[in-house]
Amino acid sequence: MAAADRQPSTPAGEQGRTALVGVLALQGDFEAHARVLGRLGARVVAVRVPADLDGVQALVLPGGESTTMTLGVEREGLAEPLRALARDGVPLLGSCAGLIMLDSEHLGLMDMRADRNAFGRQIRSFEADIEMDELPGGPIRGIFIRAPQIAEHGPEVRILATVEGHAVAARQGDMLVVSFHSELTGDDRLHVWLLQRAAERRARR
Ligand code: GLN
Repeated sequence: MAAADRQPSTPAGEQGRTALVGVLALQGDFEAHARVLGRLGARVVAVRVPADLDGVQALVLPGGESTTMTLGVEREGLAEPLRALARDGVPLLGSCAGLIMLDSEHLGLMDMRADRNAFGRQIRSFEADIEMDELPGGPIRGIFIRAPQIAEHGPEVRILATVEGHAVAARQGDMLVVSFHSELTGDDRLHVWLLQRAAERRARR
């Protein structure tokens, strides 16, 4: 391996300042999220069983296939540990199937209901620049792959972006969901948001 390809090692004293971020890794594009988080200097743990959540300071629920992911969560007994993490105020980022996982019909962590495969009869996939409230730095490029929309939501959920009248991004407290993939475009701002929330939470404790 060329020296330039090697990840810089984290000096022992630095660990306290580097967030430990879990990425749910049962199925889907968790590796893309892990790459972004690694690039941003986070320590990343692939979450497959409850013990992987120990010490996690932020969590990503990736895109993929929400039915398969739900079966995996049930099989591994992850639902209650994931809920406990959210109750504890650990910031969460859900993308696409990850958005579906947080809705009232799945983990029930956000007061919203997602409609799966919401974009047209052909379940079309497309890219778009999304104007997103609360995200500094202009529109974010999103890739929509059989993407859900937020069909209904309660008062605690703030819709941050819409496409063709479909709600595609929202926040409830420290939980942020988007129905698109930004981890595939090189735009790291959603992950930066997650790490900032984790740092703020650590500063409060
Ligand atoms: N359509 C998928 C589902 O229902 C989500 C697609 C995605 O995550 N890119 O789970």
